[in-house]
Amino acid sequence: MSESEDHAIIVNYKFHHIDTSKCKHCTEFSCEEACFRGIYKVITKESVPKCIVVEDREDRCVKCHICTTACKSKAITID
Ligand code: SF4
Ligand code: SF4
Repeated sequence: MSESEDHAIIVNYKFHHIDTSKCKHCTEFSCEEACFRGIYKVITKESVPKCIVVEDREDRCVKCHICTTACKSKAITID
């Protein structure tokens, strides 16, 4: 698989949608820091980073959009 193969890989939760193809190249992991509700976790940071919504935490979201601003790659969308 080549590095340039960066088609969107959207992971859909109830109302969060994360383009995890963008997370692959992330070094900041600002989503984790930004969300004061602890909704995100970035897994496999040492290899291929991937942001996930922590199970059962999605409903804690207050839709403040701090996370969508903090993620410079614009990987996160919220309905
Ligand atoms: S959601 Fe954004 S900040 Fe979080 S790991 Fe993915 S690209 Fe990085
Ligand atoms: S909108 Fe606010 S509460 Fe919801 S996931 Fe983003 S930072 Fe967290």
